[in-house]
Amino acid sequence: MGAIPFPKRKVSKTIAKKELALLEAAYPHAVTALAYGNPFELLVAVILSAQCTDARVNLTTPALFAAYPTPKALAAARLADVERLIQSCGFFRTKAKNIIGAARALVAEHAGRVPETREELEALPGVGRKTASVVLSVAFGEAAFAVDTHVFRVAHRMGLTTGTTPLAVERDVTALVPESKWRFAHHWLILHGRTICKAQRPLCDRCPVRELCPSAPKKRAGRVRSGAAGAEVRRRSRSLSKASKA
Ligand code: SF4
Repeated sequence: MGAIPFPKRKVSKTIAKKELALLEAAYPHAVTALAYGNPFELLVAVILSAQCTDARVNLTTPALFAAYPTPKALAAARLADVERLIQSCGFFRTKAKNIIGAARALVAEHAGRVPETREELEALPGVGRKTASVVLSVAFGEAAFAVDTHVFRVAHRMGLTTGTTPLAVERDVTALVPESKWRFAHHWLILHGRTICKAQRPLCDRCPVRELCPSAPKKRAGRVRSGAAGAEVRRRSRSLSKASKA
């Protein structure tokens, strides 16, 4: 199966919550795949991860952090040197400017520390809502739900949202999950998108939510159907069978 169109309608809240509970059970220990040792390193790694895989970032950051272990060191770095160290990441020129700019802002405005509020984080160069949400949730344990490309795709396929922007998707998904679990839900959806609900070829036959998912392939007539429609068909046939026995 190639890339599949998103469902046009959301599933019911009950189905959506069941789907998320199944993902929670499937990925109980999901954490960020980015390697970092402190909030500063996480901030830099997340900025580098835009349009780049976490695996690629993890190959890049050891040398970068060895050369510039603190915001003060990175703030004083030469642009060309940083570009050379991160050139295997996409958009490395812009990212080099951003991480140096962010380090300078940390030194100038935050005493060399990563701030812990969304407003302050989003004021840093290269930091948007998604990056701020990852730093808040992963580094500081705050209730935040970051929407990246995997989260956007998986949430749509599962019928959790029809939102056309990351913020709309964030609002729809966070309305389905207790606030205390927002930061974990982000990882459930990302890990699911990376391992099963892949962009081009989702592995629906191995998916824990296939019986409820509106994007799961329907089996031909005469066979048991999968997805939410299949669940409804099975529910009706059980009721019919009970009625005929009565
Ligand atoms: S059944 Fe699973 S893998 Fe297939 S589209 Fe739905 S969530 Fe993705």
